[in-house]
Amino acid sequence: MSAAASAREILTRLHEVMASRMHAQGKLDRVVDIVGETLDSEVCSIYLLREGMLELYATRGLNKEAVHITRMAMGEGLTGTLVNNNETLNLAEATAHPDFQYRPETGEEKFHSFAGVPIVYRERAVGAINVQHVEPRRYEDVEIEALQTCAMVLSELIANAELVDGEAVADLDDRPTGPQTVNGLTLVGGLASGVAVFHQPRVTIDQVVADDIEVERQRVYRAFAKMRDQIDGMARDVEFGAGGEHEEVLQTYKMFAYDEGWGRRINEAIDSGLTAEAAIERVQQRTRMRMREIDDPLLADRMHDLEDLSNRLLRIVSGQLGTAATQGLRKDAILIARNLGPAELLEYDRRRLKGVVLEEGSLTAHVVIVARAMGIPVIGRVQGLRGIVAEGDQLLVDATVGVAHVRPAPSLLEAFEARFAKTKERQATYAGLRDVEPFTRCGTRIQVMMNAGLRDDMATLPLVGADGVGLFRTEFQFLVSATLPQRERQTRLYRDVLDAAQGKPVIFRTVDIGGDKAVPYLIDHTVDPDENPAMGWRALRLALDRGGLLKAQARALLEASAGRPLSVMFPMVSEPWEFDAAKAVFEDQVAYFRKSKKVLPESISYGAMLEVPSLAEVLDLLMPKLSFLSVGTNDLTQFLFAADRSNPKLAERYDWLSPAVLRFLQRIAQSTLGHPVDIGVCGEMGGRRLEALALLGLGYRRLSITPVSVGPIKELIRRVDLKEIEAAMTGWLAAPPASIRDELTHWAAEREIEVD
Ligand code: PEP
Ligand code: MG
Repeated sequence: MSAAASAREILTRLHEVMASRMHAQGKLDRVVDIVGETLDSEVCSIYLLREGMLELYATRGLNKEAVHITRMAMGEGLTGTLVNNNETLNLAEATAHPDFQYRPETGEEKFHSFAGVPIVYRERAVGAINVQHVEPRRYEDVEIEALQTCAMVLSELIANAELVDGEAVADLDDRPTGPQTVNGLTLVGGLASGVAVFHQPRVTIDQVVADDIEVERQRVYRAFAKMRDQIDGMARDVEFGAGGEHEEVLQTYKMFAYDEGWGRRINEAIDSGLTAEAAIERVQQRTRMRMREIDDPLLADRMHDLEDLSNRLLRIVSGQLGTAATQGLRKDAILIARNLGPAELLEYDRRRLKGVVLEEGSLTAHVVIVARAMGIPVIGRVQGLRGIVAEGDQLLVDATVGVAHVRPAPSLLEAFEARFAKTKERQATYAGLRDVEPFTRCGTRIQVMMNAGLRDDMATLPLVGADGVGLFRTEFQFLVSATLPQRERQTRLYRDVLDAAQGKPVIFRTVDIGGDKAVPYLIDHTVDPDENPAMGWRALRLALDRGGLLKAQARALLEASAGRPLSVMFPMVSEPWEFDAAKAVFEDQVAYFRKSKKVLPESISYGAMLEVPSLAEVLDLLMPKLSFLSVGTNDLTQFLFAADRSNPKLAERYDWLSPAVLRFLQRIAQSTLGHPVDIGVCGEMGGRRLEALALLGLGYRRLSITPVSVGPIKELIRRVDLKEIEAAMTGWLAAPPASIRDELTHWAAEREIEVD
C-alpha cells in the first residue's frame, strides 16, 4: 500500500470514530485497535499527561489491567522521553535505548521494536501514541506518518476537552496562568488597563480529516499563490517600505514563501488525508520540533518568521482573514503583536484601543510616533510576550516605567484602578478646555499648537483644540512609502492637511530625512554608511544636495497653498547660508509660478528650526531674514550633551531642566528680543508640564507639542503668572541651585499647580 493510501485508510476510520457519539474512553479504545490493525502491530498504546504524569489511557496488546494504572514521569522511560523531548522515536530494539524502562504490569517484555510519536496540543507534547512489535525491526516512514496523523486527530479530541478535565487542560497549557509581570521599554508613556487582543488571532482548526483531497490540494495551492502575492505586494506597499528591520523580515518571508520544500511537505500531509489547515499546522509542528533542537538564536529568529508566515497561510486558507482590527475590536483592548506598521495601528478604533505591547519596536519606529499621536501607551521589546499572554487575559500596562502586569492580582488591580481614575479625572478636565483659549493668569495669550505628520493626525486638531499645527513633519509621508512620493502625492497630502486645518495655521517643515529616519530609496546605507547618523547627512543638508527633492517639495507646497497662507520651516539649519539656499529654491519656484500665471499662496512665511547649537551663535545674522524661529529641543539637547536621543541608556541621564539647557534656551529667547520674529519651541519638552512652566519662565510664548499634551498644557497655562515664573527662573539661572527641577516642583506645589 502506498504511504498516502495507508495513512488515508487510517484517517477515514479514525474520522468515523471521532464523529461517533461514543464517550472519550471508548474513542481511545477504538483508536488503538484501528492503528494496531492497520499497521499490523501487536501493541498500540496511548499515553496522556494527567496531573503532571503520563498515564496509560488505552492499549491493545499490553495488559488491559494496566490502563489508568501505569503512570510515568516526564522524561521517564521511552514514552516519557519522547514526550519530554517532543520527538518521534523509531527503535528496532527498544531495550537497547538508554532510557528504556521495564514495567512488569504491562507485560511488554516480549516486544522488541518500538515507535512512538508525541501528541501535540497548543504547541506542547501532552501525550504519545506508540506501537510495538515482537519482531525487532525499524518502522517505515509510512508507518510513522500514520502515527503522526493519529496524533493530530487525538489532539483535536483533546482540544474538544472531552478527554481531560478543565484543570488538566490548563495544566497542559505551558503558558503560566498566574499573575506575571513583564518588562520592556517604554515607547509611549501612559497607563492602560484592558484585555489582551492579538493583532493576528490564532486560527482554530475545526476539521482535521479531508473530505476530498483534491479540493484541499487546490485550496493550499491557491493560498500559496495569494500569500506570495501578498509578500511581493508588501515590498511595494507603502506601509512596509520603511527599510531596516522590515526589509530583513521581508527577505526572509520571501525565502520561505518560495521555498519548495515547505510546499511539498504540506502537500504530502494533504495526501495522507488531512485538510489544508491540518496539513499546514502539522508541517509547522514538525518544523517547530526540529528547530527547537537547534540552539541558535539566529535560526530562532528565522523560525519566528516562518511561524508568522505559516499563520498567514493558515489564515488565508481558512478564510479567518484579517487582523483584530478588521474583525471588530472589543472594548478596552490591549493589542499584542510582534510588531506593527503605522497603518496597521491606524486601522484600530482609537476609542476601543487602550494600549499596545510589542515584542519588538523601538523609540524611533514609525508606529510609535503614530501611537504617540493617537495618545496610546506603548511598551516594546517584551521578549517571548506571546508565550506568556493568552487572548483575553487581563492586562495592566504601566508605560510610565515600561512594565505590563499580566493577569494581575486583585490588590494590584485596585491600586492601578485608583491611579487610573485620577488620570482619567484629569483627562476629563483637559477635554473640557478644548474650546477655552489659553490665557495666563496675568492675561497673556499663549499659542498652544500641535505636532503632526500624518493626514490622520489632523482629525485630532479640533478634538484637542490646538491653535494650529506648529510642526508638520513632512518626512512621515516619505518614511511610510516604499518609493519616493511623487510631487502630486505630496501636493494632495499638503492640500488635505490645509483643508483639515480649516484656516488655522500649519507650519510645514521640509523633509528631515536621513539619520535615524533613513529611507532606502534615497540613501543606501549599505553602500554609504553614516557612522553617526544624527550628525550625518540629513535634513536640510541632504535636501540641499538633492536639489530636485526640495524643488519638488517647494512646488507641492506652493500648489497646495494656492490662495492661502503658507508657512515653511527648514530643519537642522546650522549656518545662515543654508537658510538662504533653501529659501532660494522656494523663491525660484515662486518666480516660475508667477511666470506661468499659476495661483500663488496668499503669503509665504519662512522660518528655521534651531536644533543645531552653532546657529545660536549667529542668530543675529539670521534673525532679519526670518518670520519665525522654532527651537527643536529634541535634537538640540542631544547635540548640547552629545547624547544620542534614541539611546535608552542615556534617556534619563541629562535633564531638560539642567542649567545648561535652560541657559541656552534663555539666550536664544533673549537674542530674538527686538525682532519681529515669532519664537516657539516644538520639541517634546514643551509637552511636559514642569518643562513647559520653565519655558514660559524663559520667555517662550508659543509651544508646539504632541496632541495629547495640548489639554494638560492649556490647563497649566491658566494657572501661571508669567511675572512670577520669570522672576523665579532668572534667579535660578543666575545662581543655579542643586536641582532646578526640585526647586520648580516645589514652586509649583506652593501654588497648587500639579505637574507630571
Ligand atoms: C526636534 O528635534 O526637537 C524636533 C521637533 O524635530 P524631530 O523630533 O522631528 O527631530
Ligand atoms: Mg529635530
